[in-house]
Order: sequence, then structure tokens, then C-alpha cells
Amino acid sequence: MNTLTRSLFTVPVLLALSSCAQNPVTGKQDFVMMSEAQEVSIGLRQDALVRQQYKVYPSRALQDYVDSVGQKVAMKSHRPTLRYHYTVVDSPEINAFALPGGYVYITRGILAYLNSEAELAAVLGHETGHVTARHGVRQQSATTATDIGLRIAAYWVPQLNTNIGYNLSNLLGGALLSGYGREHELEADRLGADYLARSGYDPHAMIRVVGVLKDQELFDAEIAKQEGREPRRYHGVFASHPDADTRLQEVVNESKGLVVAQPYEGRDVFLQHIEGITFHDSSDQGVLRNNVFSHGELGLSLSFPADWKVQNLPDRLVASSPDAQVSMQLRMDVKPTGTPVEYAKRYTGAGSSVEPAECNGLSAAIASTPSTITGVIYLNGRAYIVQSVAKSPEALAVQRNAVLHTIRSFRALSETERKQLRPLQIHIITARAGDTYAALARRSPLGRNAESYLRLINAQYPKGEPVAGQSIKVVD
Ligand SMILES: [Zn+2]
Repeated sequence: MNTLTRSLFTVPVLLALSSCAQNPVTGKQDFVMMSEAQEVSIGLRQDALVRQQYKVYPSRALQDYVDSVGQKVAMKSHRPTLRYHYTVVDSPEINAFALPGGYVYITRGILAYLNSEAELAAVLGHETGHVTARHGVRQQSATTATDIGLRIAAYWVPQLNTNIGYNLSNLLGGALLSGYGREHELEADRLGADYLARSGYDPHAMIRVVGVLKDQELFDAEIAKQEGREPRRYHGVFASHPDADTRLQEVVNESKGLVVAQPYEGRDVFLQHIEGITFHDSSDQGVLRNNVFSHGELGLSLSFPADWKVQNLPDRLVASSPDAQVSMQLRMDVKPTGTPVEYAKRYTGAGSSVEPAECNGLSAAIASTPSTITGVIYLNGRAYIVQSVAKSPEALAVQRNAVLHTIRSFRALSETERKQLRPLQIHIITARAGDTYAALARRSPLGRNAESYLRLINAQYPKGEPVAGQSIKVVD
């Protein structure tokens, strides 16, 4: 690029940065917020935390592919020398997010809704825009950075923590997962579209992606209500539909002059790389529906009270009471010794009273202290520990029945139930003449919403049909 275009290219972001970095006394550039090295070190620390909350998706080939697309876009960004890391996390959520310093994550949940490399590049470009414009850094003043440090320490040493498990949004601020507000999101879209065009993709892929995700969001809000779970929504999607969103159209059109004659779409390459990925919940993480946790591989089920907040984290299952005074965790011991009563006595120590119990035919024990109740249940040679801790004996008294009811709900799954919990997978097929989404839906295990899901993931919602010879995604 020549000098003129280079200066046009860098000016807008410098302005954006200097507006919050100018020292009002000296009038000089004064980067009071943090240096790039500090930014990277914060990103690195928070990356460790993200990896505790999310499992990395276990496919080297997919990780390498997504990273290569991200690197391609990043090389054309405003901060091409920063070291970027693009990681697919094993989550059914529909999201992507970025940490300061170049750490970008995309869920396998959102990948199912994309249909080409250009669309993947659009999502990664948007996140890269958050990094280059330092949206994360702008939100985290020096004080909050220290606070985050402390809270990370507390998180790693659970005893330091009060009873309630923190989640990522508590730790890193809501913005990480829920977005940075309309203006910053639009700026990320503008930067993303710019990077797309510069790396040989059609910047309008940005609008297409937002459209698909908007359809997904509207549909999922309904289904989430039926299934009693949180809706799955992408943080960059706003109220109006992208086709009617004039500001989004405007920011994307700014990169029109950069579009190459034949932008790269990469539909088949992208589809090949997502062949076989998990759709919705994965069985090795268990499934949470209406506060009932079921784990197909371990063959167990546990029902929490309907009004409790339950989180299925990669390393444990945590729940907290509506008043946040009592928390419960499910843990597993693969090599327990002794009877459940002996185990519970050892586990809870002196000062607790232990009673033998039975949970749906399984041998168990319940140990109590004034502010804890611990259930130990044996199943298939493993011990499961349902541990509840209250902030006070009074708080436990209020929730005692709910806690005991949860422990007693622990049961083994039948063979049929286990089979039904097998994870769903995306497969790529070539549509034949006469194929319809209604017919494909009848052969799909997605249930009564199958037809809508198939249209959504193939970007043919609400009325499209497959065209003979077209590669399409199915779920089974
Ligand atoms: Zn965003």
C-alpha cells in the first residue's frame, strides 16, 4: 500500500485512541491506560480463566483452520504486529469474544450457523476489531484490572471465595460476553468489514452473518422458553434486522472501495472443516434442561430446584439458591474406598453427623453440619458428592428441603435414556432433486423444531429449500 492510503488507514483509530488518552494538563499523548505489554499480560491471565470455564474444542484440524483464517484477517488489521490467538471453544452458546492483547474465542455453537469462510472471517474480523480498537482495555481501568487480579486469585483458591461460584461475566465484566454497546459494536463491525475487504473477502459477509444470527436469536428466544434455558444469542446483534439497519449498512459500505474483483467465499472449504462438529450439548459435558442435569456417559441424572441458578462448567456443576445464600456442587471420585457412610465421615470430617441413605435404589449417605449438607452416592464404582454450603445456619434452614430433595433426586439413567443423550453432530450432504427441509427434518433427531433448525443453520430461514447439488448441513 502507498503512503497516502496507509495514512488514511491509520488515522481514524489513532483519533479514537487519543480521545481517551490525551493528558488534559500537558495536552500530550499520554497512554495512561496501559501499555501493549500490560494489555498482553492481562489477556494472558484472563485466557487461563477462559480455559477453565470453556473447554477447547478437541479438533486440531478445526483449530488450525480457524486460526489460519483469523491470522489472515489480523495481518490486515490496524495492529498487524500483535500476536493473535484464535481458539474454538467447546460450547453450544452462540458467541465469539475477545480479550485485550489479541486473544479471540469463537464457540463451536456459532460455527454451526456459518456457511462460508468469508462468514467465519467476518466474525473473527469483528472480534479482531474489538482488540485493535482496544474496547476491552477501554472498559478496564487500572482499578478494575487489579480487582480482576484479586478475583482470579479467589477463583483459583476456592476457599478464599465465598460460597457462590463466579462465572466469566462476574469476573471479566458483562461486556466480554454481552458486547460493548451499540457504538463499539458498530465500530467493530466497521473495522471487521475493512479487514475482510483487505484480506480478499466480501465485506458484506458481515451483514449476512448478522442476518443469520438475528434469525437464530428470534427463533431461539421462543425455544429457550420451551426448554427452560437461557437463550443463545450473539453479542453483536442488535434490535433491528440487519437488512433494515442503516447504520450497519453504512459502516460496512465504507469498505466498498477496497473490495477485490472476485472476493473469496470459501463455502466448500468451510463446510468440510465443520463436518462432524457437535451440535447443541455434548454428552461428555452432560446436558442441562429445566435444571435437570443428565450425563449420558456417566449414566446419571440430578434435579435441582426450578428456581436455582445452575451452571454446567467443564470441571464441575455448580448451583446457587435464588437468594445466593446457598451453593451446591457436584463432584466425582473415581476411586472411592469404604461404604458411603465411611466415605462421608472422612470427607466432611469431625463435627458432622452422618446418616446412611438411599437415592432411587443407590447406596448413599448424608452428612450434615449447621451450615453444610453433603450427599455421597455410589454409582458404577464411583462416588458422587453433592455438596451444599450455606453462608449461615439460618440460610441453610431456609433451603434445607430443597437441598435434600436435590440429593435424593440423584438416579441412574436407563440404557434408553443414555442413548438419547448421545451428542448431535453436523454432517454435510449434497442435496438431491426434490429434497425439502420438511423431509430432512423427519429423519433428524432434533425433535419438533427440526425443520426450523435446518433452515437456520443453512441460512435458508424461514422459507428456503435446498437446491439440487447444493452442499447443505444436516444434524444427526
Ligand atoms: Zn462485538
